[in-house]
Amino acid sequence: MTIESNVNQSNDLDSFRSLTALQQPTWPDAERLDRARSILSENAPIVVPAGADQLRDNLARVARGEAFLLQGGDCAESFAEADSARIGNKIRTILQMAVVLTHGASMPVVKMGRMAGQFAKPRSSDTEIRDGVELPAYRGDMVNGFEFTAESRIPDPMRMVEGYRISAATLNLARAFTQGGFADLRRVHEWNAGFLKNPAYKRYERTAKEIDRAIRFMAACGVDFSALRTTDFFVGHEALLLDYERSLTRIDSRTGNAYDTSAHFLWIGERTRQLDGAHVEFLSKVANPIGIKLGPTTTPDQMMALAERIDPDRVPGRLTFITRMGASRIREVLPVLTTAAKREGLVAAWATDPMHGNTITSATGYKTRRFSDVMDEVVGFFEVHRSVGTIPGGLHMELTGDDVTEVLGGSEEIDDEGLAARYETLVDPRLNHQQSLELAFLVAEMLVT
Ligand code: PEP
Ligand code: MN
Repeated sequence: MTIESNVNQSNDLDSFRSLTALQQPTWPDAERLDRARSILSENAPIVVPAGADQLRDNLARVARGEAFLLQGGDCAESFAEADSARIGNKIRTILQMAVVLTHGASMPVVKMGRMAGQFAKPRSSDTEIRDGVELPAYRGDMVNGFEFTAESRIPDPMRMVEGYRISAATLNLARAFTQGGFADLRRVHEWNAGFLKNPAYKRYERTAKEIDRAIRFMAACGVDFSALRTTDFFVGHEALLLDYERSLTRIDSRTGNAYDTSAHFLWIGERTRQLDGAHVEFLSKVANPIGIKLGPTTTPDQMMALAERIDPDRVPGRLTFITRMGASRIREVLPVLTTAAKREGLVAAWATDPMHGNTITSATGYKTRRFSDVMDEVVGFFEVHRSVGTIPGGLHMELTGDDVTEVLGGSEEIDDEGLAARYETLVDPRLNHQQSLELAFLVAEMLVT
């Protein structure tokens, strides 16, 4: 397979330019922007179309209830933290969660990072005020710097080129980890056994013992463990920065279809999913599997219209709805959508993002979430799908493999005061390594049927 140019008249990949694109930076230097765009257009793709197609086939299985999706990673990746230790910890956490979920679901788990491109953020305000000083908001490392100085907050289009380079290196490392024995089922299970040594997690011992017995059973039967040593790993990010996404879009010479080669999976955020907006228009033109975030105000008509725009041909695996309703709303809002989807015969996969509807400010002033709210939304997601007869297909999580203290609760209770110990996120609070594993054990219990 080869990939040709990034211009194709018949696809009209630039039709989005005449529409409103929300949440875009105001680049200060048009010439520098042109240079960044042409560098991105001329460079090698980060993923190839066949990889995106393979993910689409996997997501079709998720939509049919034959596989479960686990997508996780930072709210916002950072250039400074794209090192081997941190990336390794994230992948290890996802693999550990996946083993537990695979066992619970008795189904393959499709593993995907919010990774290798998650560098641009929508913000609720264009500016940020600290101690009476007002500066442009931080919009992700691919746009401007996090440091609160006038200079660092100026958008620089060359940051997209740096983001491309770091994304390519991140995916390369993720592949090396998941193809190189790091993903060996027996090794991942040993890591989980280490986690369970902590008495706080005693209640999950039974599940771990069952996995242990299953592995020993396979070994006794002479199962070829070489097949269980590697795993497919996909990446996705929010397709927010249209200059970046457009510049990395290429025409696949096999089919003449356009693919956004910045990632296997792209999603449209809650704040940029307007039917007449630039994001929906652009992503309707690329053949990758596409996610759409659906918040609590989504109506069935909006949902159906989005499906029609992004997936008019109803291609299995093309469309994933990622609902983020909030624990207090999901049981009331989601059934309305899933009932309509069922009635209309939609083929979308459904995932829950139990993070973005559950953000609060702690008494100590931190943007945080409660582990109990996150779990409650996941429980509500399963309850609703099961009562309507649709399929609870997967999890979309903000998590890290490190021992940060950003989310309240979990069995190893992080309280209001505890948040200060290691609060490192650039934007939203993430589950830490242990909270992520605990969540996987709890979800695995729900998946057992
Ligand atoms: C996100 O995923 O980080 C995000 C901004 O989510 P949403 O679009 O659902 O608010
Ligand atoms: Mn976020």
